[in-house]
Amino acid sequence: MTAPDSQNFDLIRLAEISRQLGQNKAFVQGGGGNTSVKDSNGKMWIKASGVELANVQAQDGFVCVDYTSICQKLATCKNESEYTNLIVSSIQSNGKEIKPLRPSIETGFHALLGLSVLHSHSVIANLLTCSHEGATIYSNLLPEAIWVDYASPGLPVTHSVMHNIQPERSHEQAAIFLLQNHGIIVAAATPDAAWQAHEDANKKIRDHFNLDKIDLALPPMMLADKEHLLFPDQAVYLSSNDLRTSKAGHETQQAYNYLRCTMDSLGLHPHYLPPDEADFLLNMEAEKYRQKVTKA
Ligand SMILES: [Zn+2]
Repeated sequence: MTAPDSQNFDLIRLAEISRQLGQNKAFVQGGGGNTSVKDSNGKMWIKASGVELANVQAQDGFVCVDYTSICQKLATCKNESEYTNLIVSSIQSNGKEIKPLRPSIETGFHALLGLSVLHSHSVIANLLTCSHEGATIYSNLLPEAIWVDYASPGLPVTHSVMHNIQPERSHEQAAIFLLQNHGIIVAAATPDAAWQAHEDANKKIRDHFNLDKIDLALPPMMLADKEHLLFPDQAVYLSSNDLRTSKAGHETQQAYNYLRCTMDSLGLHPHYLPPDEADFLLNMEAEKYRQKVTKA
């Protein structure tokens, strides 16, 4: 979609940073991760659901939403369908869209946070978020970060992030969130500052564990299954043969394998989600939409 001139620079820069983030498979696998930038007039450009960060363009792959109206109504949003309606109804159409896109399922927490927000499924950050020891290690290593206990994607994780911030100041604050069994969020004043904060946080974790090279194809390959659920995309992308053999499925399996093998060698113990969380994730309407877009 076409952005107003005043916003073009930040959106173009965000698109460049999004591709940089998405092309690094240690940070983003398949259609995972999402990025956004806000202007001072209540508008936010957020990555569209099902679009890969690695390929996103300023003119194709972002959706413009009214983030102030999302922020105002999130607290009273009670279920997934109300949340989806809120996000879809906040789309700012300029009549020039080439194809209809739906904002990312994580639009809620993007709306609440700073001017530019990056969310990744970094396997480096997930060594902490997916292990029993992670909550203790992070408090010394990244004391500025906020730990958010696991909540399902969409409205639940948005509400969890909301309860961990001061909403009246949230758009000015730089912030780092570690989402248990999910990933990392960074918020900053510009896309470049958010990228730097994401780099710095990942580097601190890498240095702590002495990880110099991130090799996602570590042997032996541990196959991801529902009984050992480490993160939501594992349930989504490995749920059917079609998705499992897709590029996104392959990348998701590699991330899972990296986490299991590396935790093993570092003496960390995986923190698994209950198997019924996999059933819940597969029944979410927003995830069905994403699976449909991925298969298309
Ligand atoms: Zn995510």
